[in-house]
Amino acid sequence: MKLILVGPPGAGKGTQSSLLASHFSIPHISTGDIFRANIKGQTELGKLAQSYTSAGNLVPDSVTNDMVADRLKQDDLANGYLLDGYPRNVGQAEFLSNFLNQHQEKLDAVLEFSLSNEEIITRLSGRRVCKNCQAPFHIEFERPKVTGVCDKCGGELYQRDDDKEEVIANRLEVYNDQTAPIINYYKNTGLLKTISALGSVEEIFQRALIAIK
Ligand code: ADP
Ligand code: ZN
Repeated sequence: MKLILVGPPGAGKGTQSSLLASHFSIPHISTGDIFRANIKGQTELGKLAQSYTSAGNLVPDSVTNDMVADRLKQDDLANGYLLDGYPRNVGQAEFLSNFLNQHQEKLDAVLEFSLSNEEIITRLSGRRVCKNCQAPFHIEFERPKVTGVCDKCGGELYQRDDDKEEVIANRLEVYNDQTAPIINYYKNTGLLKTISALGSVEEIFQRALIAIK
């Protein structure tokens, strides 16, 4: 199973990606998580990515495409994989298509999560994420049992730089200008499945499974 998840920031892609990846026993590849891990470790890649991610801009394709190609060459992908946060513009989608063609591989589905702009802003501004395991919470809608502490692992919750109010507007603009066009790109391939991102985690997961089938 080779899956791509597309959707605006805050749509719950990360949560659903984890669920779907374990359901299909495939690795969850999140470009956002890879960048954050590199930023945390202050690697060369991390230093390069930091100024882009903290402003809510895309890391240049030359960097991102190579990073993904390296990941897709690793040998844990016999069952396939789930790509979360990539591709994020038409250039990346074309790069991925070429990569797959060269390796005689095909995607099974592109799952799009749809959500209104108002809902996106509400979700992102209240989002808190575990420093340790990346689990997401919300200060109003998905409160942790203890304020500031992860229910799953006890790690410390924090607000991502790019979830700060001044950055959210830019992320939305980047999504609408650069990422939304890939929806049409995949519509033309017949792979696109669109579901609403409103509802409980379990409801959306069931919706996703039905859409992918
Ligand atoms: P979200 O979906 O919540 O916006 P992600 O965790 O997917 O966040 O990504 C965080 C940031 O990492 C993005 O705003 C961008 O700066 C960078 N990033 C992630 N994926 C890509 C990509 N495919 N191309 C370029 N930059 C990316
Ligand atoms: Zn945690």
